[in-house]
Amino acid sequence: MSDSFDRLHLWHPYTSMLDPLPTFKVKRAYGTTIELENGKQLIDGMSSWWCAIHGYNHAELNDAIQIQLQNMSHIMFGGLTHDPAIELGKVLLAITPKALDKIFYADSGSVAVEVALKMAVQYWTAQGQHQKTNFITTHSGYHGDTWNAMSVCDPVTGMHQIFGSALPIRYFVPAPQSRYGGEWYVDDIKALEETLATHHEQIAAMIIEPIVQGAGGMRFYHPEYLRQAKTLCEKYHVLMIFDEIATGFGRTGKLFAWEHADVVPDIMCIGKALTGGYLTLAATLTSCHVADVISSGEAGVFMHGPTFMANPLACAVALKSTTLLLEQDWQSNIQRIEKILTTHLSALIDVEGVQDVRVLGAIGVIEMKEAVHLKQLQDVFVARGIWVRPFGKLVYVMPPYVISTADLTQLLTVLCDVVQQ
Ligand code: PMP
Repeated sequence: MSDSFDRLHLWHPYTSMLDPLPTFKVKRAYGTTIELENGKQLIDGMSSWWCAIHGYNHAELNDAIQIQLQNMSHIMFGGLTHDPAIELGKVLLAITPKALDKIFYADSGSVAVEVALKMAVQYWTAQGQHQKTNFITTHSGYHGDTWNAMSVCDPVTGMHQIFGSALPIRYFVPAPQSRYGGEWYVDDIKALEETLATHHEQIAAMIIEPIVQGAGGMRFYHPEYLRQAKTLCEKYHVLMIFDEIATGFGRTGKLFAWEHADVVPDIMCIGKALTGGYLTLAATLTSCHVADVISSGEAGVFMHGPTFMANPLACAVALKSTTLLLEQDWQSNIQRIEKILTTHLSALIDVEGVQDVRVLGAIGVIEMKEAVHLKQLQDVFVARGIWVRPFGKLVYVMPPYVISTADLTQLLTVLCDVVQQ
């Protein structure tokens, strides 16, 4: 199945070049179907890693790009501006916390995280607090693969062992143990309080994925953690950064996951589903206060400016994707998906080898007791017509929101059958 040029020359994510896992060549994708070169059709369970919420080859999203293409595909954002960036900005400000007022467009989620971390450091140095340059986060987090994003990923399942002392050393506290929808354990916040009390003078910001820890473990935790963490950050003069790159745009049942806790961060990163999975675009939002402090510091400016900042094609399709989402009764739709996920996956809880099953919004997770055999599982899934890509002990789905009940049922029937076997 693997193309030989691809196998020899193209590096895929997290893959060995000596012994690459097979790849499946895609001819096209439409709706929730991925069609392989050999004609095999797969029901998509991944939304291309949280992104393709409206499915593939969507007529209105295609049009948005084509219309923008007639004007310009790209123009530098230094000294120039354009309607796609402006109109998208208006929509983003309307759907994110009121306190967030300034938008920095970045070209990927990892870059949006780098930007957030840089904002936090510049915020403190602008006030003469040159020692506040470090960060605090929890275990089981994931924030991207660039240098500083990597440094705040989980130190065990992340890449700390490989990069060793090349990575800056951060403050880590245990991941919240209180589950979403479960009991709140008062001790859950203790480690954060102790670490902040001791080290806050060195800490610029706390960074965390609100409610759902994604690639670091697909864990759903209690909103009280965020409420108490925010109070502590305020007490100890530490900024709060929410990484909503995976959780944004309805995936957890709320438009953004901060709404589960009603906690507003100082800085927020969004990406992935922002463009409906069409083009790479992310954004870092912050308050007037943070922006004003940064801008009145010695540097006088925020020091970042990607070449493809606010790419007009990406902004145009992001505007269309977000408008499409907001125009529909997306809450009921996510509830429909959540109900079907719960019905099917809960049947697995007593299956041998299954450690845990959890569902939140349009995310369904089966945690196995042991790491799965990726190649074997992937082959079986493809042979049976579904696209699901597990990692470690986690077999999980986050389908496009447009998935029909029949397709979702078929996806989960196959998934559950394979897991049971
Ligand atoms: N933060 C979170 C929470 C993510 O899930 C990801 C991507 N998996 C990133 C940051 C990095 O985004 P990107 O891959 O676009 O750089």
